[in-house]
Amino acid sequence: MNAQEVIELEQSHVLGVYGRAPFVLERGEGSTLYDTEGRAYLDCVAGIAVNALGYNDAGVTQAMEAAAATGMLHVSNLYHTAPHARLAALLCESSFADKVHFCNSGAEANEGAFKFARRYGRAHGGEDKVEILAFTNAFHGRTMGALAATPRPKYQDPFKPLMPGVRFAEFNNLASARAQMDARVCAIIVEPIQGEGGVHVATPEFLTGLRALADEFDALLIYDEVQCGVGRTGSLWAYQGYSNGEQGDSFAPDILTAAKPLAAGLPIGAILMRQRVAATIHKGDHGSTFAGGPLVTSVAHHVVNRIAQPAFLAAVEAKGKLLHDLLEEINSPHIIEIRGKGLMLGVELDIEAAEVVNRGYAEGLILVNAGPHVLRLVPPLVITEAEIHEVVARLTRILHAL
Ligand SMILES: *Cc1c(COP(=O)(O)O)cnc(C)c1O
Repeated sequence: MNAQEVIELEQSHVLGVYGRAPFVLERGEGSTLYDTEGRAYLDCVAGIAVNALGYNDAGVTQAMEAAAATGMLHVSNLYHTAPHARLAALLCESSFADKVHFCNSGAEANEGAFKFARRYGRAHGGEDKVEILAFTNAFHGRTMGALAATPRPKYQDPFKPLMPGVRFAEFNNLASARAQMDARVCAIIVEPIQGEGGVHVATPEFLTGLRALADEFDALLIYDEVQCGVGRTGSLWAYQGYSNGEQGDSFAPDILTAAKPLAAGLPIGAILMRQRVAATIHKGDHGSTFAGGPLVTSVAHHVVNRIAQPAFLAAVEAKGKLLHDLLEEINSPHIIEIRGKGLMLGVELDIEAAEVVNRGYAEGLILVNAGPHVLRLVPPLVITEAEIHEVVARLTRILHAL
């Protein structure tokens, strides 16, 4: 099949909820993807912040092969397996968490977090303590509960009625959050760095303020780190990048959801939680057929273990700074603002970001937008400094031609 035939076959048979780029990808190596015509693309999307270790990573391949060699891809959560236990322990050791529950995606992680929060709320405040506070520009996923906390009319309106019991406040506005708080709120959910909503970084005062608000009202603080977690911002968990060590736990949540990069391309989600949350959840309360199987947890353990190394995280921070500095030097009148943290950067433009994304393909550059006017750069965390220079050179050519 040539590229045109693949594209026509997809268009005939695949539900049209995605607009796809006009080429067919065939293989990847490092931070480069190749299409069926042999064209190379520097990848600044990484499967939307998923392929943290890039393509054809030897360690990931080895972890997959070793897990596959057991012959046991899946066994159900009715049985113990070592990879499942080991990954849960590693996630707890590397964070605030005491317990972990696995699932299969970001939306599913947030659904689980909401269920656990409601369970906690009922146990602590009675039947009415079931409300969730979320924020403007948030993205928590496409399932009915996660969608209810994702305040974008285009995503929500065709699918109403949504899950009831969600209220909203303005992101980075603590007074707005306080105005929405009362004893009925069981959880506050926030992305420490908003992804889909346009790459907006929470201020330290906002996060510590939400921490204090949650404590004041006996509500849980949930961080959605589905996009910003697992090394993306230069610390293993984005919230850890806020703490200077002295402030202790003033940035730590009660629940943290992770997914996208956790197994470097295999589907997995995780809900990390404190003991006081876990204490309110009982046998039979929640579950999933596929979640936490031995193959995917083996790979995730390899991924988290590698990314958590201080040298790896320091390199992400340094490369993020390089990318940020080089973007600042582009000097295009179309650039309004550059923001973000680590290798999660957004470039706000005065033109449609889609225009830049489309022109990127001809330049051998894979980019994605985050909202209509923000270009989002979330390359593999293993991108090299030379590749970062090349990305910015290509982006500069595109912007100067517009
Ligand atoms: C992508 C994303 C989700 C949804 O994850 P899926 O795996 O697509 O369900 C939730 N929250 C954030 C912050 C995300 O970026």
